[in-house]
Amino acid sequence: MLSKVIEQAKIDRFTKWLDHADKIVIVAHVSPDGDAIGSSLGMLHFLESQEKTVNIIVPNAFPDFLKWMPGSKDILFYDRYKEFADKLIAEADIVCCLDFNAANRIDRMMDVVKASKAKKILIDHHLHPEDFCDITMSYSRISSTSELVFRLICRMGYFSDITKEGAECIYTGMMTDTGGFTYNSNNQEIYFIISELLSKGIDKDDIYRKVYNTYSESRLRLMGYVLSQMKVYPDHHAALISLTKKEQGQFDYIRGDSEGFVNIPLSIKGVIFSCFLREDTERPMIKISLRSVGTFPCNQLAAEFFNGGGHLNASGGEFYGTMEEAKKMFEKALEKFKPLLNAKG
Ligand code: 5GP
Ligand code: MN
Repeated sequence: MLSKVIEQAKIDRFTKWLDHADKIVIVAHVSPDGDAIGSSLGMLHFLESQEKTVNIIVPNAFPDFLKWMPGSKDILFYDRYKEFADKLIAEADIVCCLDFNAANRIDRMMDVVKASKAKKILIDHHLHPEDFCDITMSYSRISSTSELVFRLICRMGYFSDITKEGAECIYTGMMTDTGGFTYNSNNQEIYFIISELLSKGIDKDDIYRKVYNTYSESRLRLMGYVLSQMKVYPDHHAALISLTKKEQGQFDYIRGDSEGFVNIPLSIKGVIFSCFLREDTERPMIKISLRSVGTFPCNQLAAEFFNGGGHLNASGGEFYGTMEEAKKMFEKALEKFKPLLNAKG
């Protein structure tokens, strides 16, 4: 049995909405990850089983290793089909906002979502949700938004309507947001949920291979290069890796090729904090990815130095300047946070 995470009143309200809704739009954050896509598709399969008309719209493209997911081919990219997407959002009865806590995380879609007359529900697990929806289901202690979607469907009494396809998407989101159940994954109930998803016929080992073992040769060579350039800061229990646009060009870089790189330095004994700086190909800025193990608050450092945020152990931000300046800023942040990086626990 699962403990009750979502408040009953919110579930009742959403159930009532569904009784009177036909057109539903699901939106997720910019540069969608496994959980954004997994939770959106998990929700889509469920809502379609209730005979709703459902569209998923995300601000831009998602990585190739998620494209096997059932239903993913019909996901609309706002940066390509703005007019059509605007119409769908404006005419929707309900907009489900999945896996983000602030309206600006859906980029240019923000204005049209806010302006839509649709009822809006937020389902998310990031800290400090903004108040931009009519129902806010936000629980930062839950591993993933996909897990929340599963919990919501079950609490509404529709476990039996979850299909194998829906279960595959929910599982993928839970798996990717916990690094294959290696962090944020000590809650026993996660494994009860996995057991329930397995009962739907999913092949979890095959899903793992489809997501993690489908990389190109050039990605592996890029990984080798990036790691050979890594800088370790033993006094701060930290490591830094980076990737400039020029280097991306040398390795036929495509979007998603550096996914997961930021986690690798954490496999060094003694390193509890890892930073990855990547020059963006589309915008003149450096994307920051931060990861930690234990209690070190990446999100605090991201907010203070890189105009970002996120979870305790996984956060990100942006930097406007050169790679050298970004590295200097990171080292400044390391000095400031040195006491916490050296704290036990
Ligand atoms: P990633 O390193 O995978 O890009 O991001 C990890 C987490 O950091 C995301 O799930 C999100 O919570 C947070 N994050 C990433 N980039 C940003 C950003 O620019 N701003 C904020 N507020 N959070 C971010
Ligand atoms: Mn997530």
